[in-house]
Amino acid sequence: MPQQNLFIHKVLNRLDKIDPAQVRQYVTELHHTASQLADIIEAVHEGILLMDRTGQIKFYNRQAALWLQIPDAPHRTLSIHNPIFDAQLSRILSHSLNTSTVAQSDISLLTPRELTFRVSISPMTNFNDWLLITLEDMTAEKSSLQLYEQLARTESLMKLSAGIAHDIGNPLNSIGIHLQLLRQDIASLSAADKKKIASKISVIESETARLDKIIKDFLKATRKHPLRVKNENLNRVVEEALRFMRPELLEGNIQALVTRDDKLSPFLFDPDRIYQCCLNLIKNALEAMPKGGRLDIVVSHKNKIASISFKDTGVGIRDDVLPHIFEPYFTTKKEGSGLGLMTVFNIIQEHGGRIDVQSKAAKGTDITLILPMRQPKLQLPTPQSRPV
Ligand code: ADP
Ligand code: MG
Repeated sequence: MPQQNLFIHKVLNRLDKIDPAQVRQYVTELHHTASQLADIIEAVHEGILLMDRTGQIKFYNRQAALWLQIPDAPHRTLSIHNPIFDAQLSRILSHSLNTSTVAQSDISLLTPRELTFRVSISPMTNFNDWLLITLEDMTAEKSSLQLYEQLARTESLMKLSAGIAHDIGNPLNSIGIHLQLLRQDIASLSAADKKKIASKISVIESETARLDKIIKDFLKATRKHPLRVKNENLNRVVEEALRFMRPELLEGNIQALVTRDDKLSPFLFDPDRIYQCCLNLIKNALEAMPKGGRLDIVVSHKNKIASISFKDTGVGIRDDVLPHIFEPYFTTKKEGSGLGLMTVFNIIQEHGGRIDVQSKAAKGTDITLILPMRQPKLQLPTPQSRPV
């Protein structure tokens, strides 16, 4: 038995012999400690639950109530067999009712967007033999790991492709020049021969032009110029992009809405390139909803981080497709270029931001651009501009 409990037992056995003032002081101290502990349990970022060995949740903190979407009532108790309790978690907890060892597993819950949690279950031998269950949000770790892997893959692919694209440029130029020379050479041939050869030259010319366009588009998409940052209002850029796409969205039977963040002050970013990102994402959303639907664009900020979320009710992205969407030339569309998201990825990277993608096949996609809000440096007056 732990020290504290031994002490309490001694006190309880001799309660009638102790000075009432001392008892009052002790109870006050105990109450103080208990309410401090309760405050701590409510303030931690983890979800905390206590379960007895019959599957009754005897206590859960506010974070657990929020994530599991269970009532945040004053006496938080609930059975894990209650249908409002998440089925996945209920299954895991049922399996551990008789456990005497610490167990851990990861689960995904929709609360209301998909989050990944690490569930840890530990027996509390000194506390009625109940089980302590903690829920830790692992979503950021999981998506940043995925993003890091994606980044590494995309970067190496891009380096390789940009090198090849550049090298193809030179022979392509030379082919173009020789085709022109060939046209001059055939001028002296008979009309019949000239016609025969000229039509073949035309085919080669048009194919060469096509190749040239592919290469130029690729180099344009991968070229990194320095950012031209300005102290801009993000709401304005997003609204402008939507205004530009509005006719196409209307034609596609898509209801699109921007929720501005009026408390968001201007910060440093490249407005032209963020505009380009917005166009690409709106275009993708449009293409994901061939039968019409809804596009919600939400601008928001928190702790010097601004974000724009593009949430559509489109076809969604299958789990096996998701890891590839930022790769150059990756497309699932007949007429797709596969360069849109790669461009977005590069631009957001250059801004020191990141992209969060949540998608469910047949339900829709939510792509969020996350940007650090850099502020212009305070301009100190130069000696010349100082008033004399
Ligand atoms: P493209 O649009 O030319 O196919 P992108 O790089 O813009 O190229 O997108 C790559 C792929 O990512 C798309 O082909 C599609 O499969 C998927 N994708 C992107 N955005 C969405 C979306 N909003 N909904 C569903 N799928 C999407
Ligand atoms: Mg696209």
